[in-house]
Amino acid sequence: MGSQIVHNSQKPHVVCVPYPAQGHINPMMKVAKLLHARGFHVTFVNTVYNHNRFLRSRGSNALEGLPSFRFESIPDGLPETDMDATQDITALCESTMKNCLAPFRELLQQINAGDNVPPVSCIVSDGCMSFTLDVAEELGVPEVLFWTTSGCAFLAYLHFYLFIEKGLSPLKDESYLTKEYLDDTVIDFIPTMKNLKLKDIPSFIRTTNPDDVMINFALHETERAKRASAIILNTFDDLEHDVVQTMQSILPPVYSVGPLHLLANREIEEGSEIGMMSSNLWKEEMECLDWLDTKTKNSVIYINFGSITVLSVKQLVEFAWGLAGSGKEFLWVIRPDLVAGEEAVVPPEFLTETKDRSMLASWCPQEKVLSHPAIGGFLTHCGWNSILESLSSGVPMVCWPFFADQQMNCKFCCDEWDVGIEIGGDVKREEVETVVRELMDGEKGKKMRQKAVEWRRLARGATEHKLGSSVVNFETVISKYLVGQK
Ligand code: UDP
Repeated sequence: MGSQIVHNSQKPHVVCVPYPAQGHINPMMKVAKLLHARGFHVTFVNTVYNHNRFLRSRGSNALEGLPSFRFESIPDGLPETDMDATQDITALCESTMKNCLAPFRELLQQINAGDNVPPVSCIVSDGCMSFTLDVAEELGVPEVLFWTTSGCAFLAYLHFYLFIEKGLSPLKDESYLTKEYLDDTVIDFIPTMKNLKLKDIPSFIRTTNPDDVMINFALHETERAKRASAIILNTFDDLEHDVVQTMQSILPPVYSVGPLHLLANREIEEGSEIGMMSSNLWKEEMECLDWLDTKTKNSVIYINFGSITVLSVKQLVEFAWGLAGSGKEFLWVIRPDLVAGEEAVVPPEFLTETKDRSMLASWCPQEKVLSHPAIGGFLTHCGWNSILESLSSGVPMVCWPFFADQQMNCKFCCDEWDVGIEIGGDVKREEVETVVRELMDGEKGKKMRQKAVEWRRLARGATEHKLGSSVVNFETVISKYLVGQK
């Protein structure tokens, strides 16, 4: 990217507001760091709940920031607790939508009343925190919305209203929730998207409840997106050109600026103060990297279900025995809250049987893990960051989507980008075993790895210094919408 725009004390001041979940905080932190590198004063707004989690997991000075990179917090409106777990997403969506506007407005008033920082001149907010638009309009500053989902899932969310108009959602009753109905119901009314079935659409559409919070939330937030100055997506032109183009006619200008972690890695020095600022709510276990150093190229399968997915005990056990049966070496990250309401414990016999070829961790530095040469495959829940990080590292995937945009991401990974094999929601150890072997050693796995390596090349191209499409787009967003606008 170009040199810093501003050298004097009247810097542009961006307020970055992530949705309060890990998969949203990480990419927003990359945006914040990139803007800081371009001369912006940054205020990064967490919820009080996450702010406290950061302090507990990373130490009391974790959010001290820098004079030109400050952390603030607003309450999320949910009852206070000091749990160290991902919050209930439905409750959080409902609460942030209803309760966050007033404290956010007050925070910005306080910042603007202070005399030691430049006045707030723009907002970059998560698309799921669209209450921030009201404050941007009140202050007369531009707001760029950041939708952290894939472009394909965002395009599907933008057409949720059509599912309702056509009577496809809510489903009339539970009897429609069969595999046959969801696999056979063709969805042919989302522009540019072919061969879609109802099962591929973001999960919230498959509700039987006419007052479903998540459908209404998706409708509300996508409608409000039209009020943004511009919209950015963590994707890149070669990957999702057509879906992003389709959005241009229904939304303010949309820009692909990803993969943001590649952009940030290129622009921000790893050992610098900003580079070392972590956005992980859990503490990473770095020993995984030492263990991977002892392994040969492409020999290890990595398993991680992200920050929100929960498994039943039965599913955990099926995955465990499937991995054991595959005979492959594996690194499995088991979050402490991975099993709903219970401790996530794998069978002791499984541990004994696999101890010489496995490593278990509770949270890891995923970007580094995926880019380690020893990783040959990724069993993933298809969170969008995980997919982008995997594609950017040339790693093919076994897809086990859980909820939200993940079914759509899985569909595109398997059928459009040719880097994934799906396994059934009702997971069986035999299937895990077969699919993991296929991914790591089979013909299909080999083809997927070649394709993933090709995507890695294109992802790197999109973030290439000065020339990459995402670099150029990021520059345009800064100069056209974030600097010098009122
Ligand atoms: N992540 C990590 N370590 C872990 C698990 C996840 O650093 O052990 C990061 C991962 O790199 C990604 C984010 O957490 O950036 C998870 O986001 P994603 O969209 O993949 O899934 P979500 O958690 O939103 O379901």
